[in-house]
Amino acid sequence: MKIIVIGAGIGGLQSAKVLAEGGNEVVVYERSSQGKISYDWRDDVEYTVFDELNIPIPSDSHRVQNVSFLAPNSDKPLFIYQDEDKMEWGVYRHTFGDMLARRAIEAGAEIKYETSVDSLIIEGDSVKGVNVAQEQIFADLVIDCSGMDSKFRASLPESMGIEKQANWDEAFNVYRAHFNKREGEPEPEKYRRLVYLKPEGALGISWVVCEPDGTENILIGRIGELTDEEIDESIAKLREAHPIIGDDIVYGGRRARIPIRYPLTKMVGNGYVAIGDSAFMTIPLIGSGIAASLRAGQILGDTINADGSTKVETLWKYQVKYYQDIAKEHFLVDCMKRKILVADNDDIKYVIESGFITEDDIKMLTGGEGGKMTAKDICKKLRLAVKKLPFILSVVGALLKGVGTMNKAKKIPTVYDEKKIAKWQAKLQKVFGK
Ligand SMILES: Cc1cc2nc3c(=O)[nH]c(=O)nc-3n(C[C@H](O)[C@H](O)[C@H](O)COP(=O)(O)OP(=O)(O)OC[C@H]3O[C@@H](n4cnc5c(N)ncnc54)[C@H](O)[C@@H]3O)c2cc1C
Repeated sequence: MKIIVIGAGIGGLQSAKVLAEGGNEVVVYERSSQGKISYDWRDDVEYTVFDELNIPIPSDSHRVQNVSFLAPNSDKPLFIYQDEDKMEWGVYRHTFGDMLARRAIEAGAEIKYETSVDSLIIEGDSVKGVNVAQEQIFADLVIDCSGMDSKFRASLPESMGIEKQANWDEAFNVYRAHFNKREGEPEPEKYRRLVYLKPEGALGISWVVCEPDGTENILIGRIGELTDEEIDESIAKLREAHPIIGDDIVYGGRRARIPIRYPLTKMVGNGYVAIGDSAFMTIPLIGSGIAASLRAGQILGDTINADGSTKVETLWKYQVKYYQDIAKEHFLVDCMKRKILVADNDDIKYVIESGFITEDDIKMLTGGEGGKMTAKDICKKLRLAVKKLPFILSVVGALLKGVGTMNKAKKIPTVYDEKKIAKWQAKLQKVFGK
């Protein structure tokens, strides 16, 4: 079968490798040049995924550091300590992209760099191929790995039932840069990795990370618009609190967007499948888009190879497995995210400073190894909850709604049936007001 992958993103490259191993003719189109795939910085990757998918950890990676959260207008951070051997890997994205590309090529896939795909060839309700440099290239399947704002997904016929765009509150607009260190300033002892929640009341976060490579990694992230003025002001505020942040950008220094919502409720159609950020596979608030995309790439490749088919019925099996193995929990986190976004700054400050939310709670929520909650812990929580009862009750309400939505997501129809799928999609989308 002939398979086209648009974009040498994480999920696209992993699926290209597996599909090429299965004897398929796979061509990946990537608009960037070789060696420049993805971002010019390191991102954190869940440590278990490397062994699980038999992917080597790039040699220029390092274990990431402990993280601390700071509530709005607070100077009392919540520290999250993780065992060294359970920490995520900070992976340099160009190196990692190159490694995944090399593995795909060794398996028999072809990668065409500096080649932008213009549009899809659509006939009736099916995708038949792509238009590249005024040439029509037909294929049995097009894998869309072009990122969260995929213009290809947006061009699909309505009849496919695939959502075209994310709402404004489902995307995180970020600016990230690694600055030099100002000479003569003392190194921070505690705040190696400090995340400011809703800084200055803004809808988002800022972080400052003192990197082992000697740079100060700054991120300004906002839900909704992020203006140049806001970036400058936020960096100035961070410099005020951390005078070690220098004036020169060593690397990075660009804007990007991250999906922060539940995954697409329909990722597949005739001749088309979305993967990675174009299927909104990052976990809202938590990230992990790289591990999710790698796993999705593996599932997609294995599913097509096992059936020897790219029919929509086979592609649906990929979505079902992705939902059952990975996506269902994203719905719980998304419901919590929507609650936290509208929370009052003082409420957030209280739950963090009072000890209502502890290090173990965060580890449990993020899938780490938090300890078990004892009766004493529960009593303490109840005592603290009384002081902010309306807020705590509304959080509990969001949690219950999240669990309910997760249960709805779990009930994904296991066999491709358009009517049943549309009904299931509608139930999920209703939760989010769509
Ligand atoms: C600031 C920031 C920090 C992040 N931190 C983390 C983190 O710590 N951990 C984590 O797991 N995830 C993180 N993510 C998310 C992570 O980057 C993505 O989830 C992950 O890269 C999956 O993306 P993808 O596979 O969909 O492809 P992407 O990485 O989005 O790649 C899409 C590719 O498609 C190409 N492309 C687009 N249009 C075309 C076209 N028309 N023709 C040809 N090629 C095209 C692009 O050039 C690009 O190479 C972060 C993202 C950002 C922006």
